[in-house]
Amino acid sequence: MPATILIVEDEPHIQEMIAVCLQHAGHKVLRADTVEKAVTLVSRTLPDVVLLDWMLPGISGIQYARSLRNDPRTRDLPIIMLTARSEEQDKVAGLDAGADDYLTKPFSPKELLARIKAVLRRRAPQMTEDSVEVDGLRVEPATHRASGHGQLLELGPTEFRLLHFFMTHAERVHSRATLLDQVWGDHIFVEERTVDVHIRRLRASLEQTGHDRLIQTVRGSGYRFSALPE
Ligand code: CA
Repeated sequence: MPATILIVEDEPHIQEMIAVCLQHAGHKVLRADTVEKAVTLVSRTLPDVVLLDWMLPGISGIQYARSLRNDPRTRDLPIIMLTARSEEQDKVAGLDAGADDYLTKPFSPKELLARIKAVLRRRAPQMTEDSVEVDGLRVEPATHRASGHGQLLELGPTEFRLLHFFMTHAERVHSRATLLDQVWGDHIFVEERTVDVHIRRLRASLEQTGHDRLIQTVRGSGYRFSALPE
């Protein structure tokens, strides 16, 4: 499944090599050569993965990894550290700072893509193509199909992504801003009431099989997907 991947790397040829590899694999790429530029990009669009060089001019990759982990908006963002150093103690320091994985340069495109897939599977199950089923409601990302008790449901692309996100993050309350970040990838340039419009459409599509009851409005907070009675 295509992901939005932020590359923070100050060496132009390495940044270019990674970008070409990711685009070739169908991913959307954001690029920054300093942490300052990365901060600006992330404030607009929440990526699905960050590839973070350790040695950067100014603020280091390690410092940025720590600050991403301390911000509730980016706390769960998968981070893969890229580094030319391969000492074991560096690896430990990277993981301590909150990185999910660690790649030593030079690495092959194949290795990079495999690591990205692995962190997405761990950190962001909605990015993988595994089917999810709750209470007879089923989504199949690989075929983009949703069904309720075996009956095919008609969903628009946004409603499909919304439902998939809900089902992979059930029993938690999600604010409109979180849903915009996670489903639309943008919490600034899309209005929050857009979420309500798509929730309404999603509920209408789920009504025919009675699954609309699984999407609950939590007054003053947002929405929750839950198989438990309210
Ligand atoms: Ca560097």
